[in-house]
Amino acid sequence: MKRIILGNTGLEINRMGFGGIPIQRVKEKEAVDTVLHAIRSGVDFIDTSRAYNTSERRIGRALKETDGKVVIASKSQSKSADGLLKDLETSLKELQVGHIDLYQTHFVRDEKDYRAVIGPNGALEGLLKAKDQGLIHHIGLTSHSLDLLDTVIEEGLFETVMACFSFLEPAAEDNVIPKALAKNIGVIAMKSFSGGMIDNSRLALKFALSRPGVVLIPGVENKDLFDENWKIFESGAWELTPGEEAEIAEIRKKADRVFCRRCDYCQPCTEHIPIQHILGIKSMVKRMGPEFLERGMIKAGLELALNCTQCGECAARCPYGLPIPELIRENLEWVEDLESEL
Ligand code: SF4
Ligand code: SF4
Repeated sequence: MKRIILGNTGLEINRMGFGGIPIQRVKEKEAVDTVLHAIRSGVDFIDTSRAYNTSERRIGRALKETDGKVVIASKSQSKSADGLLKDLETSLKELQVGHIDLYQTHFVRDEKDYRAVIGPNGALEGLLKAKDQGLIHHIGLTSHSLDLLDTVIEEGLFETVMACFSFLEPAAEDNVIPKALAKNIGVIAMKSFSGGMIDNSRLALKFALSRPGVVLIPGVENKDLFDENWKIFESGAWELTPGEEAEIAEIRKKADRVFCRRCDYCQPCTEHIPIQHILGIKSMVKRMGPEFLERGMIKAGLELALNCTQCGECAARCPYGLPIPELIRENLEWVEDLESEL
């Protein structure tokens, strides 16, 4: 089935939408043209965030040039009601719309974050107030933690959840996806390409589309890449062949030593190194461009990583057996080489 109703929001959309991250890394015109092309090709769900810099503005410009009907989702990383409402005001202005169909509390890291979100003066209060005022129509939550999403689904305060889901990170289908669907909570699958680790779009999209019930939001920065993805969606032929299953097994094997699942079980690091950010640096630069290295949090993380003592305590805690100290060293060398070329 190509169409889906997004849980109890009642929103009916295609199972493949458009993610707003990559359009940040091209010039404004190319970004706007890509979004417009996607809408004209049939995309009717676009997801973005306050955190994606120019993304909302560019999507807003594209929306102005079409009367195509599109369900818009955006997000705020603020955990307070006031902060979220301030972000929402900016989102509405940037997107040039009177309301946003789905507004999500973005990147709720753990139980502590979640309690802040749903507690007094938390982001949830802001979401509900905005919903009452008609500024947003539905509310959702995004997290990289499956444990947390399990709690979120259990408590049922949000209409949608967004979880990482790809053939390198398939764990959401064990519990989070079926549990959410059983409670009629909409599931948006992020990182179908595992943040750039998977470079075979056919395999990535077929894997996720072959699992019913979830909406994908692969992002692209140009029309050709969009067409490549859309063709796979439109074909409706998503069942993986035995040959494709074997290709996936091969990619999984290769990724096994290097792919960080961002679970943070390796923490705490005595040197306060944000291990997952350092391990994911190559794929993030691939997605966001070298400017990514200039972001405050990343720059500070890279500086901390220089203090890595190679003690190995983190590696002993990683459930995936990643050789963390070695990977930190390799990635720092890679960043150094990249910076010397710029
Ligand atoms: S090896 Fe490096 S990253 Fe790991 S705990 Fe020790 S100092 Fe931290
Ligand atoms: S290095 Fe291992 S434990 Fe740490 S976040 Fe990545 S996958 Fe999780």
